[in-house]
Amino acid sequence: MSVIHSVTLGRRAVLQFLGVSMAVAAINNPRSALSDTTAKQKMCSDGHLALTTGFVFPDAPSDVLAAEFKTTDPATPLLLPCTVPLLRHDDRLILFDAGAGPAFMESAGRLVASLKSAGVEADQITDIVFTHCHPDHLWGVTDEFNELTFPNARYHLARKEYDFWTGKDTLQSVPEHLKTFVAGAQSRLPRIAERAKFFENGAQPLAGIEAIGSPGHTPGHCSYMLHIAGDPVLLTGDVFSHPLTVRHPKWRWGTDQDSTIATQTRQRMIDRIAADRTRVAVYHMPPPGFGRIEAGSNGPSWVQET
Ligand SMILES: [Zn+2]
Repeated sequence: MSVIHSVTLGRRAVLQFLGVSMAVAAINNPRSALSDTTAKQKMCSDGHLALTTGFVFPDAPSDVLAAEFKTTDPATPLLLPCTVPLLRHDDRLILFDAGAGPAFMESAGRLVASLKSAGVEADQITDIVFTHCHPDHLWGVTDEFNELTFPNARYHLARKEYDFWTGKDTLQSVPEHLKTFVAGAQSRLPRIAERAKFFENGAQPLAGIEAIGSPGHTPGHCSYMLHIAGDPVLLTGDVFSHPLTVRHPKWRWGTDQDSTIATQTRQRMIDRIAADRTRVAVYHMPPPGFGRIEAGSNGPSWVQET
């Protein structure tokens, strides 16, 4: 599942991220912009999730689904790619989420192998910045022996997200289908708590990386603006997980924990991204996972980079 490219460029001030290089020609905001980066280029697949159209789009009109998937059968398989952003910045190797690990879904949990193929060992990862704590983003912090997968990493996590998943009443309060998610988070988050740094929305967990609260999918879900001079990139985590979630932001997505708030967040992000023409990287979109959102006369649409 992994597609890795490695390119060495002959100068600093180049940021490499998810298979695409972005020249940092000038620093617009020296206090916050990412700069002084070295030059290797990687994109990291964690495999994919094997879901169904009926699970991810429980309320979608059947005629629209039929046009997209050529069938109205809710059991139609939908394979959702999992692509983990990796950022090399100066002497740091930063992952955005940790993948699914070995215990969630057989088709996922390939991140360490993808990193290895690119010449990066798990113990070289210096930082993991989390969008949220669902299994396909968090459970990869531990391996099949229940040891830390990335033993030298520092973990950066929104305080609100951590507090929700570790709350003493959370397991009892969530619906049945989320209890496995909560139990999995509660067995893993204490493992990383000592090496964790918590932040509030709007903070910069690391220099040049701005946390933007984007709740609904989970209570403390965060997106991240990478302030790269001349070519900023917004990582939206699971705000969008399929091109149809851009086209139809009001549709319920199967794993959104609060559909009303998730819909508001999607709409707000669409407006911002389309207006600013921001380049976006999305965890579950088809590889390479980069694109833009265009506000067309027939509604917004995802424009995939090739
Ligand atoms: Zn996800």
